[in-house]
Amino acid sequence: VITHAQVEQVLMEPDGAGLRATGVRYRDADGRTTTIHADREVVVSAGAIGSPQLLLLSGIGPSEELASVGVECALDNPHVGKHLKDHLHVPLAFPAPGVALTMTEIAISLGPDALRAPAGPLPADPADDDGLPPELLALKAEAERRVTEWATTGQGLASSSFYDAVAFFSTGLGDPHTHDAQIGLLACGYTPDIWKHLFRVDPDAYFDDPDVALSADAETVVVLPNPVQPHSEGEVRLVSNDAADAPRIDLNYLADPHDVTVMVAVMRRALEIVDHWPGAGIGPLMVPPTLAEAHGHTAGDAPSDALLEDLARHYALTVYHETSTCRMGSVVDAELRVIGVARLRVADASVMPTVVSGNTNAATIMIGERAAELIAADHRMTLATTVG
Ligand SMILES: Cc1cc2nc3c(=O)[nH]c(=O)nc-3n(C[C@H](O)[C@H](O)[C@H](O)COP(=O)(O)OP(=O)(O)OC[C@H]3O[C@@H](n4cnc5c(N)ncnc54)[C@H](O)[C@@H]3O)c2cc1C
Repeated sequence: VITHAQVEQVLMEPDGAGLRATGVRYRDADGRTTTIHADREVVVSAGAIGSPQLLLLSGIGPSEELASVGVECALDNPHVGKHLKDHLHVPLAFPAPGVALTMTEIAISLGPDALRAPAGPLPADPADDDGLPPELLALKAEAERRVTEWATTGQGLASSSFYDAVAFFSTGLGDPHTHDAQIGLLACGYTPDIWKHLFRVDPDAYFDDPDVALSADAETVVVLPNPVQPHSEGEVRLVSNDAADAPRIDLNYLADPHDVTVMVAVMRRALEIVDHWPGAGIGPLMVPPTLAEAHGHTAGDAPSDALLEDLARHYALTVYHETSTCRMGSVVDAELRVIGVARLRVADASVMPTVVSGNTNAATIMIGERAAELIAADHRMTLATTVG
């Protein structure tokens, strides 16, 4: 395994009427370029962005597009880098007194180190813990108890992803698949940093008063409506023939009107779940102030479809589930072999014919397991274990 290396090209030679992969050229961390010969085959596993980028750099892709960036076309295939799918979800935040976990509670459950300065009340250096006042000693002891509970029993808040409940269902909007919707329920409101850097949402724009909604002691929950069978397709294309240049990724979310209709329906279902929360209940939906004003929305009103659509268009974010840019049937065959090139396979999320109706990691691992079986069988090798 050569780490910190970027493969720049799959090398190929003529093979009868078609082509055959013979190896790869890669650039190492010191900028040196090296060629490796493959005795048996080349397996590309660079993900839904990296795999089409590599095939395109190798001359496998839409001929006109390749010509426009100075890559000589070896095999014209209009599908390489196309049909990009992803999931898109919208964070909906609700005040949830008595229901939500505060970030303080979560921090205590992660042990004393999560409570240290500058963000927490304990000294930055544990050596300075001597002479702590009784309330901080008690806090530290409780944090130690909780993290030990997790380490010894696997129980407690530290064992949770806080994406603690999820609903899968069909909106009934005409998709032939078994289900086209997922709603995730987060038991906490997270921190302004997580909103900024993971959700990529500016809390100052999203919340009326972010200092209250996302304070360490706020009881806020986040519900994530997430259509899982989008019809819109994006693309990955080269901007140049230099592998060091990141490709252009156009996700093209909500381009198909069907996806907007489904998104609003899933958001509406999320609001229904919230409306039926037992006990004192949770809510109302926190609507970003500029959208509330634009739609004449008052806190506690049922939001209109137009407001929900606007909320999705402004604040929906990737679930990081990119797939289908080397999809089976168009770029690879049923055994993951690149159509038109012998001895070349792709094995990663890019081969999914369309995005799966749930999180993509497990499905991608299964693609890897299946690829191992297919490769072993082709080369008359026996795997110690198979998926069955
Ligand atoms: C922030 C984030 C959170 C996620 N959370 C979840 C989750 O909770 N649950 C879930 O199911 N899924 C989750 N996913 C999705 C999941 O991680 C992906 O679906 C999965 O990792 C895809 O696997 P892959 O092998 O196709 O690609 P990757 O895991 O992306 O692997 C491709 C690898 O190839 C390398 N590479 C690319 N180009 C080249 C090149 N030219 N030369 C050499 N190496 C190259 C990349 O650096 C990368 O290491 C998440 C993804 C992200 C980004």
